[in-house]
Amino acid sequence: MKKRILFFVALLLVFILPAHGKEYAIVIHGGAGVMAKDKMNEESRLRYKEKLNEALMLGEKLLKEGKSATDVVVQVINVLEDSPLFNAGKGAVFTHDGFNELDASIMEGKTLNAGAIAGVRDVKNPINAAREVMQNSEHVMLSGEGASAFARQQGLELVPNSYFYTERRYKSLQQILKHERQNTPNDKTGTVGCVILDSYGNLCAGTSTGGMTNKKYGRIGDSPIIGAGTYANNKTCAVSCTGHGEYYIRLGFARDISAMMEYQNLSVGEACKKEIEKLSELNGTGGVIAVDAYGNVAMEFNTSGMFRGFIKSSGEKEIAIFNDEN
Ligand code: ASP
Repeated sequence: MKKRILFFVALLLVFILPAHGKEYAIVIHGGAGVMAKDKMNEESRLRYKEKLNEALMLGEKLLKEGKSATDVVVQVINVLEDSPLFNAGKGAVFTHDGFNELDASIMEGKTLNAGAIAGVRDVKNPINAAREVMQNSEHVMLSGEGASAFARQQGLELVPNSYFYTERRYKSLQQILKHERQNTPNDKTGTVGCVILDSYGNLCAGTSTGGMTNKKYGRIGDSPIIGAGTYANNKTCAVSCTGHGEYYIRLGFARDISAMMEYQNLSVGEACKKEIEKLSELNGTGGVIAVDAYGNVAMEFNTSGMFRGFIKSSGEKEIAIFNDEN
């Protein structure tokens, strides 16, 4: 009996306790787009920064408690999904037909397991459904009514489509319809994402969005597509994107960053910069956040702003909105 206890204590000392002492890093984004400094008042900036801070602080607390990167990615994204400030969950943008249709995805760097849902109208927290797909189904991506039925089966909270309504996003749709103007990058600002290196050395990435205002015909962007809007691999990095999804899909954006690190030995910062250059060459707009297996973080974008922030076990922390801030 004594031997057995000693064995378990040794196990605890060797494997579990040291893990808590290791480095961790969390990076989040709340969307990239056209953000004129003079059009966002101090109060509004503060509101965004406070919400980003709340999400980062929760993430840090959970990581310190020894939670896995996957658990923390989901819970951090839940904070942003539940806030009407962002284009994800409550506050999602409207489709051409006046609905809110949500996409989300998640990927684990250790196993390369991934899950995604696309075009759902009633799952309160889409990132939770993406996680259920990853952990409790034999598939990677489910869409529409099927995805909702699966979420219900897994016991997730479903809500009427009206739950996602916010006046601001509804007005944005009305304006586009009235002027029959093209969607501008500003109309889709607010996708949320989180990438984490946890204290066990594992990476995870997640992204959640309402897509683009005025989207038609069941349009799906990059956010629920593994390799485009989200990617994670313990060998390289975890990536979450935000921007004009069509370009991100065409570039295989998130996976390309990982590939540049793996095959060309670029750092996470260099790879993200390079990928944003490729986006600019195609006249696409947006941003990306990433963290590598050592806790180095990157937050790159080619728009005038990206809601973003990071926190590291070293104590380094940053929360910023505009491109001339850091
Ligand atoms: N990437 C999202 C999409 O195209 C939108 C965004 O990130 O702003 O659906």
